[in-house]
Amino acid sequence: MEEESRKNEKLALAGQLAAGIAHEIRNPLTAIKGFTKMLREPSEKQSYYAGIVLSELTSIEAIVNEFLLLAKPQHAEFKRHDIFLLLQDVVNLLRAQALMQNVEILLEPVRRRVNVLAVGTQIKQVFINIVKNAIEAMPDGGHVHLLVNVEGEMVSIRIQDEGVGIDEERIKHLGEPFYTTREKGSGLGLMVSYKIVRDHGGDIDITSSTHRGTAVEIRLPVDGADENRTGTYGPREE
Ligand code: ADP
Repeated sequence: MEEESRKNEKLALAGQLAAGIAHEIRNPLTAIKGFTKMLREPSEKQSYYAGIVLSELTSIEAIVNEFLLLAKPQHAEFKRHDIFLLLQDVVNLLRAQALMQNVEILLEPVRRRVNVLAVGTQIKQVFINIVKNAIEAMPDGGHVHLLVNVEGEMVSIRIQDEGVGIDEERIKHLGEPFYTTREKGSGLGLMVSYKIVRDHGGDIDITSSTHRGTAVEIRLPVDGADENRTGTYGPREE
C-alpha cells in the first residue's frame, strides 16, 4: 500500500509537470521540425545530419504528446463503449505490426456484451500501449491472448504474452515515469496507462515470469445499464 501511495504521488507530480512543460515545448518543436525538413535538400552530408535531427525531434514530439494526454483527461467525454469492440479496433490497428514481428494477436470471443463508461480514445490508448509492449517482448514471435471476463461489477481484460518476461526487481518500477529497458522506449506508456485506468475507476495488475511471459490485467467498472443483454459474439468477418 505504501508503494501504491508512492506511485500515486509520482503520478500526480508527473501530471503537474505535464501541463507546464508540454505546452511550452510543443510550439518551438513544431517550428524547428518544419525548418529542419526544409534543410533536407542541399548536400548529402547535410541531409544526413538533418535526418538525425528530424528523428530525434520526432522522439521528443512523441514524449510531449504522451504528456499532453496525461495533462488533459478532464476535457474528454465519458461515453458508453462496448469493451469488445474497442479491443477489436485495437487488434485491427496492430495486426500489421504484429505480423511483421511474427506475432499473432488472438482475441477470444465473449459470451456477454459488456459496456464501460469511458473515454474511448483513452482506453484504446491503454490497450495499444500494453499490446505493443507484449509484441515487443517477443522478438522471435509468438501469441498475444486477449481475454475478457466479467467479475461482479468489474470487467477484466487480460493481455497475455509469451515473451521475455520481467524479473522481480524490474516489476517494482513499472509505471514510474521514464522507466524503460528499451533503446527506443520513452518509459511513459505504462505510466500513462495507469493514470488513464485510474481516472476510469479501475486498476492494472501485472504478473510476470522471466522467459515465460507477462500477463497484464486491466479491470474497469462495468456500466450496468443493459445487464440483461446476452448472446455469443466473436470477431467480425472481414
Ligand atoms: P516503453 O515501452 O517505452 O519502454 P512502458 O512504460 O510501456 O515504456 O514500459 C516500461 C518497461 O516495462 C519496458 O521498457 C519493459 O522493460 C517493461 N515491460 C512492459 N511490458 C512488458 C512486457 N509485456 N514484457 C516484458 N517487459 C515489459
